[in-house]
Amino acid sequence: MNAIHKPELGAAAKLFLAKAPKMLIDGKWVDAISGETFPVEDPSTEEVITHVPAGNKLDVDRAVEAARRALESGPWGRLSPGDRSKLIWRLGDLLEKHVDEFAEIESLDNGKPVANARRDDVPGAVSMFHYMAGWPQRLSGETLPVSSPGDWHAYTLREPVGVVGQIIPWNFPLGMLAWKVAPALAAGCTIVLKPAEQTPLTALRFGELVQEAGIPDGVVNIVTGYGETAGAALAEHPDVNKVAFTGSTEVGKRIVRAAAGNLKRVSLELGGKSPAIVFPDANLDLAIAGTANAIFYNQGQTCTAASRLFAHRSIYDQVVEGVSVAASKVKIGHGLDPTVNFGPLVSREQHQRVSGFLDSSRSEGAEVVTGGNVIGTRGYFVEPTVLAQTNRDMRVVREEIFGPVVCVQSFDDDDLEAVARFANDTEYGLSASVWTQDLRVAHLMARKIKAGTVCINTHNYADPAWPFGGSKQSGWGREMGKEVMESYTELKSIAARL
Ligand code: NAP
Ligand code: MG
Repeated sequence: MNAIHKPELGAAAKLFLAKAPKMLIDGKWVDAISGETFPVEDPSTEEVITHVPAGNKLDVDRAVEAARRALESGPWGRLSPGDRSKLIWRLGDLLEKHVDEFAEIESLDNGKPVANARRDDVPGAVSMFHYMAGWPQRLSGETLPVSSPGDWHAYTLREPVGVVGQIIPWNFPLGMLAWKVAPALAAGCTIVLKPAEQTPLTALRFGELVQEAGIPDGVVNIVTGYGETAGAALAEHPDVNKVAFTGSTEVGKRIVRAAAGNLKRVSLELGGKSPAIVFPDANLDLAIAGTANAIFYNQGQTCTAASRLFAHRSIYDQVVEGVSVAASKVKIGHGLDPTVNFGPLVSREQHQRVSGFLDSSRSEGAEVVTGGNVIGTRGYFVEPTVLAQTNRDMRVVREEIFGPVVCVQSFDDDDLEAVARFANDTEYGLSASVWTQDLRVAHLMARKIKAGTVCINTHNYADPAWPFGGSKQSGWGREMGKEVMESYTELKSIAARL
């Protein structure tokens, strides 16, 4: 790769960054009480883009107080479901109006290709707000045919779970914001959101849209800060009713312990080590392009990334070769370059982590078919990497790398039960894909795989109407679809003696 060329930002993104963004608490843009800030970096060049407030427990306390007031005594709770719906729809419209600006800020902050952000991240967030805008008027209870002696009117109501803390990761900063904020608003909750320290910028720009849309003050509060301080304070806060977390399994377990103090509701979207299984009858062009994209998209920093690729022995060589060719063809560079489709990893920490896995793959005897190295000395670039001759005992096969590294293994058993055993040989259960033209094999495998989502002839699928989440150590609960509305509401049962 040649020296990194950094394209100019558009005028709108420049204007936003020139403001030195602050946090949003109770409708006001504020510094941290401590006055501390932390730098936000461009992962392609390691340059500091700006500084944002380093919120801590004191700021979280202020934000939770504001969210409580907005829930219990502000105009938010008195809005009709139809009016709430309009506000959420408007947020989708405003995001859509600023697609280019959000795509550029996201790309600069995270490193991801701006073309992907413009095509996937921002439009995905738009459709999440538009879909969730339909829920306020559809959240209903039931009347219940009770048999107790006498005359009764028994029914249920769905009420907002209350003040929610939302802690999100850096891999899809705006996308994860939308997955959490949109349904919480639809349920009538109020929010304290903590973006990842690496990628706070689109959340802060989104805060401006919250105000522009006319969402009342205190309904959405955004506290930038570190996980160990701001994140931990939110997870253990006694006046937060629910915490929704996306991130590593390790921190997810910490969230569960922190939530125990007031038994707040917890939903978790955690790590994965998702299998893609290619059967010999698959359309190989489709399967090779699809499984390559399933690991190299977003530089492999996708929770559902197909990091374990299983190919039937009869097509194994073709699959390894095809995915390696795809890896060697990516265009690597600064995310803001519209022709680039493979950017840097998000941070120095992530770069070191992935390069550690590359070292261990060699020492454990994997064959590096292509890639296997970090790139250059500036920016957090690594090569898309294909490892063959891998097996279940290797660290690279067992642990989540969260980088563009695929471990290919062959299977020669036509017994689907045995194939499923390979696929399920992991502590995670987030996602999987099956590549075949045989409907019987596709659907039987979908049943046998232990994961929250299974894709057939595609991977990394998401849609607002499609519930998403993990089994095993990949999480608790589901986001999206009607299931997410259950996780942001409490059911109240009412019995009236007539
Ligand atoms: P992470 O450390 O778990 O961070 C995720 C979020 O939690 C960040 O906002 C982080 O803040 C915060 N946090 C960290 N420590 C905390 C604590 N003690 N209490 C409360 N919050 C805390 O994850 P990462 O290493 O940055 O991101 C990569 C991981 O996320 C991968 O393992 C990946 O699988 C997982 N992930 C899962 C999904 C999914 O949908 N299942 C999606 C994306 C990522 P800071 O940024 O300040 O540390
Ligand atoms: Mg972290």
